[in-house]
Amino acid sequence: MNTLTPDRLASADYKTIFDRQRQHAPVMALTTAKERIDRLKRIQNWIASHEDSIKKALYDDFRKPASEAVLTELYGLNGEINYTIKHLAQWMKPQRVPTPINLIGMRSQVRYEPKGNVLVIAPWNYPFILCLKPLMSAIAAGNVVMVKPSELTPNTTRIIQQLVADLFPPEEVAVFAGDASVATALLELPFNHIFFTGSPAVGKIVMAAAAKHLTSVTLELGGKSPCIVDETADIQQAAEQLAWGKGVNNGQTCIAPDYLLIHESVKPQFVQAFQGALQRMYNPNGQGIQASDSYCRMVNRRHFERVRDLVNDAVRQGATVSVGGQMAESENFIEPTLLEHVTDDMRVMQDEIFGPVLPLQTYTDKDEAIRRIRQREKPLALYIHSRNRQNIQYFMERTTAGDTVINDVMLQFNDPEMPFGGVNNSGIGKSNGFFSFQEYSNMRGTMERQFGTMKMLYPPYTNRIAGLLKFLVKYL
Ligand code: NAD
Repeated sequence: MNTLTPDRLASADYKTIFDRQRQHAPVMALTTAKERIDRLKRIQNWIASHEDSIKKALYDDFRKPASEAVLTELYGLNGEINYTIKHLAQWMKPQRVPTPINLIGMRSQVRYEPKGNVLVIAPWNYPFILCLKPLMSAIAAGNVVMVKPSELTPNTTRIIQQLVADLFPPEEVAVFAGDASVATALLELPFNHIFFTGSPAVGKIVMAAAAKHLTSVTLELGGKSPCIVDETADIQQAAEQLAWGKGVNNGQTCIAPDYLLIHESVKPQFVQAFQGALQRMYNPNGQGIQASDSYCRMVNRRHFERVRDLVNDAVRQGATVSVGGQMAESENFIEPTLLEHVTDDMRVMQDEIFGPVLPLQTYTDKDEAIRRIRQREKPLALYIHSRNRQNIQYFMERTTAGDTVINDVMLQFNDPEMPFGGVNNSGIGKSNGFFSFQEYSNMRGTMERQFGTMKMLYPPYTNRIAGLLKFLVKYL
């Protein structure tokens, strides 16, 4: 039992647990695939037997509907654990790689060994999966782990603490609840790897702290992810997907389509279809979206005010609300909202929105849409809706993004075969499936001599060696 995991510990205690984990890391490194899989199955079973408490915690934190909790937190996590269980033994095996002819006589391998002490820092928006998925992958790769969940979702944090306390001794996994000050204290420790999910601003703080110990980092960040809808797109389908993308989790999703670039000719059709899709999803009985039990809330007052201010600032500068716009401060409710006549100097086009607001800009020329995307930081996700192959290719070749989904949104996170993550400002490193395993492992190149040829090139450097080198450079 993990009795040493209190809500808060003094930094001296972080160090005590860190040292215990460091001593234990070599033991974890020697665990077999079967032993690691047993741990993953224990996590899976614990989640299955506590599903109701997890759903309740997520509801208490920000009124997340039970089905949405299953869809966006439990389902994907379970899939990732199953995938890891299935492939782990194979991943852990040393991989033979070809040895080039000039090194004939050597045998080459890549061995995956655990990095050791790992720190996972998680955000609040998917507070369960974004803690458990990196934790699970770090364990699968044979590491010891300290976890810092977000302070904004305290009910889910308590569940995570309970899970870890029930399943792991503190020298293997320890949870530290608390705010930025806890993360700051943890970041002083010389971890071997840090897996951080959160904002680009805090990502920079994490990376600077990691630099002091030359600790490697995976940074899963955010930013403004564009969505292009061209003149050939299935507008009904695109509008429905965007309504879902902005509605699910109340738009508080790192890979939510942040803003829309739509071909001018299809805008009126889109606006109508977007409105219709929202009504079908969140207002089937005509009592208003606020009454929907399929729609969650902004996580707290600060985030409610932040998004409200983005809308107000845009409207003050000439934007118009063409769909939605209702808000209720008493329950941090913001209706899915479509903004038109939006310009780049409005804050809604500068900050990551992270709420159910979709600003729309039109374009007539593909290069104009591309220019708008390229003037910003490289996005975490870029969505393209089009039925024209050449257009899709044109957009793909002239932009970059962590991941792209064509003719759908937000599905990339749940495919363990896809490298999930950003580029520069939207993230560093990739996760999911084997990519996570790699992130948490040191890839140790290992060469073993079978017979040797290198000796032929040892000094003294005679004319014969010079001739041999000439041959090697030319032909090998
Ligand atoms: P955040 O950066 O404010 O906080 C994330 C974590 O960092 C929390 O645990 C928090 O306590 C901690 N933290 C805050 N300030 C800190 C500091 N000064 N030093 C050290 N740690 C600190 O992010 P958030 O508001 O929880 O989440 C929203 C952001 O996360 C958005 O930008 C979103 O796009 C991004 N996000 C990215 C992904 C992804 O997979 N790429 C997933 C979810 C969220």
